[in-house]
Amino acid sequence: MGFLFKIRKFQHNTFLMKSFVDYPQNSDFSIHNIPFGVAVFNKEYIACATRIGDIVVDLATLFDYGYIDDVEGLQENIFEAYTLNEFIELGKPVTKAVRLKIQEVLLEGSKLANDEKTIEECFYNLDEVKMLMPLHIPNYTDFYSSIEHATNVGKMFRDPENALLPNWKHLPVGYHGRASSIVVSGTDIHRPKGQTKPADATSPVFGPTKQLDFELEMGFVANQNTEMGESISVSEAEDSIFGMVLFNDWSARDIQAWEYVPLGPFLAKNFGSSISPWIVTLEALEPFRSVSPRQEPEVLDYLKFEGDKNFDIKLEVYLQPENGAENLICRSNYKYMYWNMSQQLAHHTVNGCNVEVGDVYASGTISGTTEDSFGSMLELTWRGQNPLQLSDGSERKFIEDNDTIIMRGWAEKDGIRVGFGEVEGKILPAR
Ligand code: CA
Repeated sequence: MGFLFKIRKFQHNTFLMKSFVDYPQNSDFSIHNIPFGVAVFNKEYIACATRIGDIVVDLATLFDYGYIDDVEGLQENIFEAYTLNEFIELGKPVTKAVRLKIQEVLLEGSKLANDEKTIEECFYNLDEVKMLMPLHIPNYTDFYSSIEHATNVGKMFRDPENALLPNWKHLPVGYHGRASSIVVSGTDIHRPKGQTKPADATSPVFGPTKQLDFELEMGFVANQNTEMGESISVSEAEDSIFGMVLFNDWSARDIQAWEYVPLGPFLAKNFGSSISPWIVTLEALEPFRSVSPRQEPEVLDYLKFEGDKNFDIKLEVYLQPENGAENLICRSNYKYMYWNMSQQLAHHTVNGCNVEVGDVYASGTISGTTEDSFGSMLELTWRGQNPLQLSDGSERKFIEDNDTIIMRGWAEKDGIRVGFGEVEGKILPAR
């Protein structure tokens, strides 16, 4: 046991691997990452893919050439697919082994390193590839698990003295979102229209939202179908999680404020959410575990956990006006989450609710303690009271038409970097 533990620790903390593919030291897509996505290669052919540096690797062809087909449990070429669902459904032991196999194949001195024909057929530069929605997402749930975010919103909309509602520290609050309108990074979003009620009006008005916002979130992807009545415990939960993505949960604050009582957000949220195209596995994130915040009062038994369940993932948000420069407007970190993924999944299923392969569970807005770490315009501008000053001299209370929001996320430790790339989306005028 002691020996195995040491090897594991060695692999996670200090073993720097080197690939035969060159990439800059600050690449999110190092040999330590090996994320999964779905790509169109040369505008003609779709397959599952991984990425190393700025090279996108066609996994279906790599499988056909016999480089990754000998993993136990991997019978047919499931990389010839329009989504990752079939691959993900193979479960942790298989997806974990496939990732390690791909990593080995990409190492310096490997057989592939000297196989020019296969490299020629499987390796593509970024400009030859377009990333697609990597998943079929049957269900999407959005949590509300950052204590800083929940406190800020509570202060703004309710009572500054009692910002958190009585349930908040006892359960990971969440609601069921809309899966049909989740899109991949690079997809434009039209400004939504809806009902709002201006503070000085007696009845509501209809029109494009005046308070369009982003929410800086991360989502995790489920890898199994459970039966109704079945629950996933906190200790088993990570085996049911394939990996994570960056998640922008676009929100219309004025629509939300009017419609959300008493059942929660509806049209203020379901017009679009954006995810990053690469799913980073929990295995790749393993070296970046971080201590979870102390939960006080003590949680009920079914929510108790052991070990470090948080992950130190640095997050940034940029606002880019049309033809303008990127303005860094938020720096946060996923490690701030009060409720962790294992608790979220355990709570979600404790009543017997079934999960499905490809389900996305989002964290809720990830805010930190300082004003520059708030994960939404709502908090950054304090409901529009303190507009953001942009480098072109303009200011923003909320997002304007033709603004692009870009979120980036990465983990870095002991010279190892594993990142998500970005999730980017532009707001077009209302249709
Ligand atoms: Ca949200």
